[in-house]
Amino acid sequence: MRDKANEYGDGVALSDADMSLLAKAFETNGVLVSDDFDLQNMCLKMGIKFMPVLRSVRGRRDWVYRCPACKRKIVIKNDEKVCPVCGTPLTTKRE
Ligand SMILES: [Zn+2]
Repeated sequence: MRDKANEYGDGVALSDADMSLLAKAFETNGVLVSDDFDLQNMCLKMGIKFMPVLRSVRGRRDWVYRCPACKRKIVIKNDEKVCPVCGTPLTTKRE
């Protein structure tokens, strides 16, 4: 299994415990649950499904707002909480 991981280049970053988790997920075609970035990265490369322990991946902040003026649903990807259509400041209400 370590040889397999090494094929993808960064097997050295993974501990034996990580490797056995990966191996198990790979062999059973299961889902690996981990917040470890190296592990998630390896899952991506090897086509293993994974999900973070925490509900959202760190750094990802797609907030959905409802514009109070034009009632559009707006996905905000940065900190600019202003409706792109009518310019109304958005409330912090999230849907
Ligand atoms: Zn608006």
